[in-house]
Amino acid sequence: METATSKPHFVLVPWIGGISHILPMTDIGCLLASHGAPVTIITTPVNTPFVQSRVDRATPNGSEIAVTAVPFPAAEAGLPEGCERLDLIPSPAMVPGFFSASRKFGEAVARHCRRQDGPRRPSCIIAGMCHTWALGVARELGVPCYIFHGFGAFALLCIEYLFKHRRHEVLASADELVDIPVLPPFECKVLGRQMPPHFLPSTSMGSGWMQEVREFDMAVDGIVVNSFEELEHGSAALLAAGAGKKVFAVGPVSLCHEPILDPQAASDDAKRCMTWLDAKEAKSVVYVSFGSIGRMPAPQLMQLGMALVSCPWSVLWVLNSADTLPGDVQDWLHQNTDADGVAHSKCHVVRGWAPQVAILDHPAVGGFMTHCGWGSTLEGVAAGVPMVTWPFFAEQFINERLIVDVLGIGVSIGVTKPTENVLTAGKLGGAEAKAEIGAEQVKKALERLMDEGEHLRRKAQELKEKARVVLEEGGSSYMNLEKLIHSFV
Ligand code: UDP
Repeated sequence: METATSKPHFVLVPWIGGISHILPMTDIGCLLASHGAPVTIITTPVNTPFVQSRVDRATPNGSEIAVTAVPFPAAEAGLPEGCERLDLIPSPAMVPGFFSASRKFGEAVARHCRRQDGPRRPSCIIAGMCHTWALGVARELGVPCYIFHGFGAFALLCIEYLFKHRRHEVLASADELVDIPVLPPFECKVLGRQMPPHFLPSTSMGSGWMQEVREFDMAVDGIVVNSFEELEHGSAALLAAGAGKKVFAVGPVSLCHEPILDPQAASDDAKRCMTWLDAKEAKSVVYVSFGSIGRMPAPQLMQLGMALVSCPWSVLWVLNSADTLPGDVQDWLHQNTDADGVAHSKCHVVRGWAPQVAILDHPAVGGFMTHCGWGSTLEGVAAGVPMVTWPFFAEQFINERLIVDVLGIGVSIGVTKPTENVLTAGKLGGAEAKAEIGAEQVKKALERLMDEGEHLRRKAQELKEKARVVLEEGGSSYMNLEKLIHSFV
């Protein structure tokens, strides 16, 4: 019989762009360990406690999974001490410094890997999307290098198509519609300005860096995707054919955790939020969250807020930008929403981090207003909750097309312009600080979701049923984890 030690040792190095890269790669590590493969997750000291506690929650004692901290030279690169994720940098001017520190971090990881021998020697490296240095380490050690982008298979397929057909090079304007016909008969059209950053005129990292990331993409031996085969209409297989690589769809990886709060570990905010939900009727609440890094300009936030407090549904609104808002917006929030989780209040605001997976799984939640980050999208799918889609940037406009046009589980809010972020700061040309979406438009979309969206809810529930079984023995993601473990031995 195969033993844990006869299985390959996976070394996972999540990209430190944000929590949303670290979360799913940690979960992939937990899933591999649950299939008996030894796993080491390597991250920076600041990110280690968080990864360790997630691992502790998901894996039973005795699993062969270790979390290793390798120093991140923030100060050397002119970054504040402890600035070990891209979302922690105080200014876009520090982006190049962050990337140079992450390269040095890569050199330190390489030294660490070289020192390991026997069963601790890596058999395979799974690297987060911007850890381009990982390929050299894997080649030196003579082991495969797989990549985890954090995107879904459909978005990766669209990106592959855009690279091959170079549509972005012949765009007359950013308002032109780009047709990405990767999954007929479904249409996928986005505006030039809504394309993923690879195809935008410029980012803080410049075209040389994007080229390096692309070359890394093309050179790796395989792609690990947080998705499941039944979801994206064959996108994973098409991606494998298009990119000429193995693609392993092993999600939804968040299902490796029970979707409930650990009362011991949960913050008071998190507990308040669940108690508030407990007092609500089934499917009566709209959950509003735009991920871990999305920041809405203050005027847009006011329009959204006015719709949320005056719509007929209860709203649980996660606001991670509260601390950077102007005083008058703060005052308005204070007067019009509730931050304490008073049971009968209509609009409960969580400032900071909310227990999203547990919230989405709560019976009171009937709709999800999301920025279409892939992690959130898949968590919404796994919970069977239909969505209002409000993409911000990156590949989120493509995810919106998947949610609305392909899966039929969402209503688009109708945003046309991406929002600025740390990598594009000041360069998109479309992100004025004024509101693109008015309060009435928000209410209309919510109405279509909550009042008229029975067909969306039905489809979302069907997908939930499919998602529920894929990680069980014999399910597609379970089998793909097995294939991943046996893909090179
Ligand atoms: N998340 C969370 N609580 C929050 C905000 C985000 O648990 O208050 C988690 C969410 O469950 C998801 C991830 O953070 O797993 C966000 O990832 P996603 O890909 O949706 O968006 P990003 O943060 O990359 O924009």
